Amino acid sequence: MVLIFLLVLLVAGPVSGQDYSRLRIIAFGAHPDDCDSKAGGLAAKYAAAGHLVKFVSVTNGDAGHYEQGGGVLAKRRRAEAQEAGRRIGIEYEVLDNHDGELLPTLEVRRQIIREIRQWRTDVVLAPRPNDYHPDHRYTGVLVQDASFMVTVPNVVTDAPALRKNPVFLYFSDRFTRPQPFRPDIVVAIDDMFEKKVAMLDAHVSQMYEWLPWLDGTLDQVPKEPAARTKWLAEQRSSPALPEWKQALGKWYGAQVASVQHAEAFEITEYGRQPDEAEIRKLVPFFPAQ
Ligand SMILES: [Zn+2]
Repeated sequence: MVLIFLLVLLVAGPVSGQDYSRLRIIAFGAHPDDCDSKAGGLAAKYAAAGHLVKFVSVTNGDAGHYEQGGGVLAKRRRAEAQEAGRRIGIEYEVLDNHDGELLPTLEVRRQIIREIRQWRTDVVLAPRPNDYHPDHRYTGVLVQDASFMVTVPNVVTDAPALRKNPVFLYFSDRFTRPQPFRPDIVVAIDDMFEKKVAMLDAHVSQMYEWLPWLDGTLDQVPKEPAARTKWLAEQRSSPALPEWKQALGKWYGAQVASVQHAEAFEITEYGRQPDEAEIRKLVPFFPAQ
């Protein structure tokens, strides 16, 4: 009898409650490098602590360059994303939707639902649906549209529905209309800053070619690899912004003064609504109270 009970436990897993010792995090960006910029430090912290992280680029990035494009660029960027994931110990998947043409269609919504379910996700990260770039905007809409549907068994029937709705967080951004980003959770990433830079450094086509070209600074990119990485760290320093200081103080107390680099997240109104005690379990990087 006891044996049968144990077997049932083994097959079914814990009957109630959640395993916070091995969290499963998924982040969606529109392009291969978006998640890295917004949450690379957080992902590195989860991975270093033994949790499981997956980054998903909803488009293949095939428009993100000034002299390359199409399949050749998509292949190059997929390889860059995989190298970026390898450098911090996470999975990285690039979906094969065209860059610059993303729309919040049912087809892509199903892709997102499938990803969240198959990862058996505890926490989802995504952009807010306010942004200068239509692909970013629609990635935000798509994840928002998936946030309830991941629990509905009759939708996307080839991937079992989640019984427990994940917590959905937004990446930080600078947009203020209709409302500014609210820094509910701010995580110090000083201990992972080098890893974050190493991750960004893997996106050569973006960090050293496309983005400087857009900014008109292509001639300032150093040629020598070490100098180039140092330049990148200065360009993308992920500073703890003044408007995050109050939230940082809430989570870090007296340690706030030593925080230089940080990433911030907003708890969306969709999905499970965690209380403070659960946030501390889902984001287990804050000093004890
Ligand atoms: Zn992007």
